[in-house]
Amino acid sequence: SKRKILISACLIGENVKYDGGNNALHVKVLEQWREEGVLVSLCPEVLGGLNVPRPACEVLEGTTTVLCKSGEDVSEEFAKGAKESLRIAQEEGVCMAILKARSPSCGKEIIYDGTFTSTRVKDSGITCKLLQESGITVFSEEELFLAEAFWRQKGE
Ligand code: SF4
Repeated sequence: SKRKILISACLIGENVKYDGGNNALHVKVLEQWREEGVLVSLCPEVLGGLNVPRPACEVLEGTTTVLCKSGEDVSEEFAKGAKESLRIAQEEGVCMAILKARSPSCGKEIIYDGTFTSTRVKDSGITCKLLQESGITVFSEEELFLAEAFWRQKGE
C-alpha cells in the first residue's frame, strides 16, 4: 500500500521531546490509524543525531539557522533530520503528515523567533517546510479534524 500518515513521534507517546517527555494525544482517530497500520512515526531531531534529552532550540527568525538556548548551532542536525524524515516519508508512501505545533522541526506556520522569549513568528519548522515543499500535505495536531477529512477524501 502506498498510503501512509507521517506523525511526530512525540504525539503518539514516544519520549523524544527535548525534555525527555512526550506530547501524547489520546484521541480515538489516532488509535484507529495505529491499529490500521497507516502511521509512520518519527522524530526529526533524533534522526538528525540529537540526544534525548537535549537543550531547547529555536530557528533564528527568517533563516534556517537553529540555535540551542546555550548558543550551540545545531542547524546541520536539523537539516539532516529533515532530509531523513523526507526520505522515510517517500519510502513509506506518505501522502500527509500530522506534526507537532510550534516545534522548530515540526511546527506548521507558527514557530518561535529564536530569542527564547516565547515570541511567535509566522514560519514553519525545518522538517515541516521540507515535507511541504516536497508535496506532502501537513496538518498540525491542532487541525486533526482537517487531517481526518483530507484522509477520507484521499480514500475515496
Ligand atoms: Fe516531537 Fe518533532 Fe520535537 Fe521530535 S522534533 S520531539 S517529533 S515535535
